[in-house]
Amino acid sequence: MAKKSHYRVIILGSGAAGLTAAIYTARANLEPLVIDGHEPGGQLTLTTMVENFPGFPEGILGPELIENMRKQAEKFGAQFKSGAVTDVHLEQRPFKVYTAKESYEAKTLIIAAGASARLLGLPSERHLMGYGVSTCATCDGYFFRGKPIAVVGGGDSAMEEAVFLSRYASRVYLIHRRREFRASKIMIDRARANEKIEFVIPAVVEEILAPKERLVEGVRIRNPESNGLTEIAVHGVFIAIGHNPNTAVFRGKLDMDPQGYLTALNGSKTTVPGVYVAGDVSDQRYRQAVTAAGSGCMAALDAEKFLEEHSH
Ligand code: NAP
Repeated sequence: MAKKSHYRVIILGSGAAGLTAAIYTARANLEPLVIDGHEPGGQLTLTTMVENFPGFPEGILGPELIENMRKQAEKFGAQFKSGAVTDVHLEQRPFKVYTAKESYEAKTLIIAAGASARLLGLPSERHLMGYGVSTCATCDGYFFRGKPIAVVGGGDSAMEEAVFLSRYASRVYLIHRRREFRASKIMIDRARANEKIEFVIPAVVEEILAPKERLVEGVRIRNPESNGLTEIAVHGVFIAIGHNPNTAVFRGKLDMDPQGYLTALNGSKTTVPGVYVAGDVSDQRYRQAVTAAGSGCMAALDAEKFLEEHSH
């Protein structure tokens, strides 16, 4: 059988937004192709219990929720390809989508490529990810019961994670590079009022210390005002310095805000007819599984309507 490369709908990303778009478009007999991207399953695969997704009164594990969505999309005929998109051509229809190995054509495109956690850029960080370094407090907090940990960042995420992690950790060092915070006053006040949390500011993390292979024992920090170096003994380092939307391939091709989030117009539309956005790739504000799923549904309905209107 000849390999299919021309699709009515191609969905970029397989998190809650992309999979919901896949369920809807597959159920509408549009035989969508889902290209997984760098992080198959998206950020829900990095979480443990999800307790606020409607319909699961006992909660559901993030990876299980994603697996269920994927099965549901496959049941209706969605196809999946692994790999990340390296380029797109949106100047004319059909749109062209390239991965490292293949190219595809699509009458409509749903971009649900999500956002990825920012990292500090230290060489040790990736090596120690999952071995004491984490970008997800809800996933990994439990592993640090009774142990001192550090949270890096000065935004609402850092405050929220520090407070959350204080449930488990013996001490939480909140390390931020400036004296001023980006976080809202109420979140800062909540963290300051928590006696387990100690603010370490201004401080730049110079290195994560793991003298015994893959076992975090501390962080080396530098005071940017005095350049003095200090070490703090911690067993875990939670990096909470924000997210980057996965939009590099759309730069100059679709409208985006200064942070790189794609602009959604009137629901899921973009400035290019036939191209739709869903989920965290265009949402810095809500970033919830249920809002991502909802916007995936909107994008699917918009794509379906567009195909109907352009079927002749
Ligand atoms: P954010 O507001 O962009 O804050 C990121 C923080 O990380 C900043 O303090 C920044 O420092 C620091 N940072 C960035 N890069 C760094 C680096 N390379 N090294 C060290 N520090 C670095 O991100 P966020 O906290 O994830 O919040 C994102 C959005 O979600 C915000 O709109 C926030 O209000 C919202 N949010 C809301 C809630 C809530 O209300 N419950 C919870 C979480 C998030 P500088 O300040 O020095 O740049």
